[in-house]
Amino acid sequence: EQRNPGQPEFIQAVAEVMESLWPFISEHPRYAEHGLLDRLVEPERVIQFRVSWVDDRGEVQVNRGFRIQHSSAIGPFKGGLRFHPSVNLSVLKFLAFEQTFKNALTTLPMGGGKGGSDFDPKGRSPGEVMRFCQSFMTELYRHVGSDTDVPAGDIGVGGREIGFLAGMMKKLSNKASCVFTGKGLSFGGSLIRPEATGYGTVYFAEEMLRHAGKTMAGMTVSVSGNVAQYGIEKAMALGAKVITASDSSGTVIDEAGFTPEKLAVLMDVKNVHYGRVSEYAERLGLYFEAGKRPWHVPVDIAFPCATQNEIDGDDAAMLVRNGVKCVAEGANMPCNAAAVRVFEQNGVLYAPGKASNAGGVATSGLEMSQNAMRLSWTREEVDGRLLEIMQGIHRMCLQYGTRPDGTVSYSDGANVAGFVKVADAMLAQGVI
Ligand code: NDP
Repeated sequence: EQRNPGQPEFIQAVAEVMESLWPFISEHPRYAEHGLLDRLVEPERVIQFRVSWVDDRGEVQVNRGFRIQHSSAIGPFKGGLRFHPSVNLSVLKFLAFEQTFKNALTTLPMGGGKGGSDFDPKGRSPGEVMRFCQSFMTELYRHVGSDTDVPAGDIGVGGREIGFLAGMMKKLSNKASCVFTGKGLSFGGSLIRPEATGYGTVYFAEEMLRHAGKTMAGMTVSVSGNVAQYGIEKAMALGAKVITASDSSGTVIDEAGFTPEKLAVLMDVKNVHYGRVSEYAERLGLYFEAGKRPWHVPVDIAFPCATQNEIDGDDAAMLVRNGVKCVAEGANMPCNAAAVRVFEQNGVLYAPGKASNAGGVATSGLEMSQNAMRLSWTREEVDGRLLEIMQGIHRMCLQYGTRPDGTVSYSDGANVAGFVKVADAMLAQGVI
């Protein structure tokens, strides 16, 4: 805390991982040698820069840009860019730290990073968003590259923004190499990338349920956030009934459950018109609870997919009272430490984001491979690899997270499995 004053999210993430690692490191003390742990919690490089741009009224706006290059131990830095007013050093350092373990779990050669800006795209015209992205790149371009650092999207950075950023990168560098993932299909994007985080989270939950002798078919599901859209699609395909959708303004509750037709309307509202969940509710005459999150709704499975700390201890206790059996994180650290404790103490199957939402970055890794080979794989090929990667992550969690009584701590499993891979690579490369 003394080294990182005013960085509560970063300290929260490090504390959570270190708590998991401690028993393992006590049994394998070589992982505490060569200053390994001190080096692991210190980003390799932190870049902060000014982003000035001119809005539609001709006024100058000044935002802050960041890139945290946390670890390149197993490959180029890799992780998304977030544009949201809540972005600061603490949030991005926590995300870059987590990303390092998550990327290791995918088994693909990617290090960890994260970046973004306190720019708020809400209410900005497409021209303003483009000018902001271009200004952001006039600094970031010096620090990224296909073998150095490959950013992607995150909150507030979708396909449109990646297009503007990648376009400016190409113009400044005079190179068409893969410096961004999440690109449009017309300029090097991968099929299944938009779906990957949601699909992957549902695949992971199904693996957990199967290991516990259950299946998702017939279960009720609540979701929050945007990543959730494709999670809704895949959960429906596996026979579950999805009864909520949400954004930061509130929650739609639909006890009859989503259908493919309803999901098409939600996607039209959110992805085509950049609209609100309340507009979706209005269009279909569904019940909308303004200002509420979905966690008071009784369900068998919850997929929190919006943002960090959206489920606290009280929300978790409510979910448990209502009979929840499985919680898989689509977002990064949506459950705070108290919530995780409640789930783990009550026998709920709980998956941390670094395991369950790794399908997004894994498919970004597959986009990098396709770009390097100058090839495009089919939907089936990418989806098949995604499923295999999620099943592989599940197996690693079992290997390192199975307790003596046969139950599984997926957070311990994911933390230790990710750590072992990064730590082995760091030890092999000497003190750098
Ligand atoms: P989007 O911007 O597409 O969606 C974010 C969603 O979360 C929106 O519904 C937004 O509501 C809501 N939200 C954002 N901030 C808050 C807040 N402070 N309080 C309540 N709701 C909020 O981002 P993504 O879907 O890309 O990312 C969501 C989460 O998933 C993040 O934690 C991200 O790190 C994680 N993730 C994303 C991956 C990806 O492939 N995109 C991969 C792995 C993890 P509103 O629209 O009202 O602002």
